[in-house]
Amino acid sequence: MLNIILFGPPGAGKGTQSEKLIDKYQLTHIATGDLFRKHMGENTELGQLAKQYINEGNLVPDSLVIKMVEDKINSASDAKGFIFDGFPRTVAQADALDEMLEQRDMPISVMLALEVDDEELKTRIRLRGKTSGRADDQDDAKIDNRIKVYKEETLPVAEHYNKQSKYRGIEGVGSIDDIFGSLCAEIDAINQ
Ligand code: ADP
Repeated sequence: MLNIILFGPPGAGKGTQSEKLIDKYQLTHIATGDLFRKHMGENTELGQLAKQYINEGNLVPDSLVIKMVEDKINSASDAKGFIFDGFPRTVAQADALDEMLEQRDMPISVMLALEVDDEELKTRIRLRGKTSGRADDQDDAKIDNRIKVYKEETLPVAEHYNKQSKYRGIEGVGSIDDIFGSLCAEIDAINQ
């Protein structure tokens, strides 16, 4: 089973590359940001709870995220493998994910981390904000907060998987196809 964490700051291109990877490797996509936006769109109880955090560019509490991901894994029993996109975003989430996957005997295969500098991230997010309709993409203070939260709370997750020798850094600036090629090369090297 191929289980990938696609990692990187907001605006790094995780969503774009996930779509291509899913197509090529027949994986099931678990994108926590997309799942929360779906809940918000449907105005579920979880959506109402998450909204206040998301719109300010803060993280949704771990317990809510972990429960949502576990439900998703349980409902995909025929999956060939997963791409986790936007999750785990804290070390507590990473610990919970490792435990969930260990219980199911399907550990993380690799963490692929898209590396993009802050100025490029901000440019991309502002551009996306013109069409995404996302409140958190349209306000410079919220964008800055998301990058700050990423550095403080999410970057330690990279070290967590580095200690397991699963971290692979990927240059995230360049053409979409070139970046996709770099991701595939890493996957094919471990997925012999
Ligand atoms: P981006 O990568 O562009 O920041 P996402 O769509 O992945 O966007 O996430 C949007 C927002 O959803 C985050 O800023 C955060 O508020 C919330 N969110 C998504 N995933 C998580 C997570 N794993 N833990 C906590 N909050 C999350």
